[in-house]
Amino acid sequence: MTFAMYDIILWSWIALGIVVFPVLFLVSAPYGRHLRTGWGPTLRSDVGWVVQESPSFLIMALYLGRWLNSHLEKDKIMDFDAGQWMTIVLALCWLVHYFNRAFVFPLRMRGGAKPTTFTVVATAIAFCITNTYLNAHALFEQELVIRSKRSLDGAFLCGVTLWLLGLLANWQSDAITRNLRRSPEDIKLQRYAIPYGGLYRYVSAPNYFAEFVEWTGFAIAARNWAAFSFALWTFCNLYPRARSNHQWYLQNFANYVALNRNAFFPNP
Ligand code: NDP
Repeated sequence: MTFAMYDIILWSWIALGIVVFPVLFLVSAPYGRHLRTGWGPTLRSDVGWVVQESPSFLIMALYLGRWLNSHLEKDKIMDFDAGQWMTIVLALCWLVHYFNRAFVFPLRMRGGAKPTTFTVVATAIAFCITNTYLNAHALFEQELVIRSKRSLDGAFLCGVTLWLLGLLANWQSDAITRNLRRSPEDIKLQRYAIPYGGLYRYVSAPNYFAEFVEWTGFAIAARNWAAFSFALWTFCNLYPRARSNHQWYLQNFANYVALNRNAFFPNP
């Protein structure tokens, strides 16, 4: 694809993220606690997660594999320059996140038989393909050239550290909610409870906040518009849902208000 075409897709993508933001305050995506009728056919949510998220893992793995294959013919791995190593590290960050999201998270869900809608799965597939194409292309086709003139710097190290902190907080938050359904009956009835611990002390949706921290760190480390667009999309997608989840907790648990949590941003 030509550079001009890539740019058109990238800037349209950024514009779309901004347009979607206010819409998501009015309409929450119909899955999980916001599942409702009127959104067409459904499928098991664990299957839905694997199908919708695996393109993000596979596309990045394909770009990385193809790039390594062509470079290892010419150079030894120890001869790679700082720019090449930074690119590999960023691709590995991506793969670690999406290996969990596409293959580990769905298999460990408690209540994976709960339906999700084809509408959500189809929209998520379109998101994953576009987002990963933009980022993989930026890393391996464009930025590599620019980054190879850069040495390992503070911004890269801070960005990767922030990404790692976000990843760990996201995993911790998902583990806390997973463990709320303990008995076979809880799982069968898909019971909800109030989560405690970790960043749940401060917010109703720490998994979403942590995910935003992750991709903000990634954008700081990568310093390209594609990575920025992912951080922006994560915020535009998850901030409105965090607000809806917060309202849902307030409506469903009488004692929730006393916990004094925010929806998305912690305010310790
Ligand atoms: P949720 O926290 O809504 O749900 C995750 C799992 O935990 C579901 O199985 C859910 O069950 C269960 N669960 C949640 N809260 C409770 C509770 N109070 N009591 C019992 N069980 C509970 O997260 P999402 O499903 O929206 O997202 C999952 C992951 O994907 C998150 O880490 C999120 O950050 C990430 N994500 C990233 C996006 C992005 O744009 N980058 C977009 C969407 C998600 P049930 O299904 O029955 O509600």
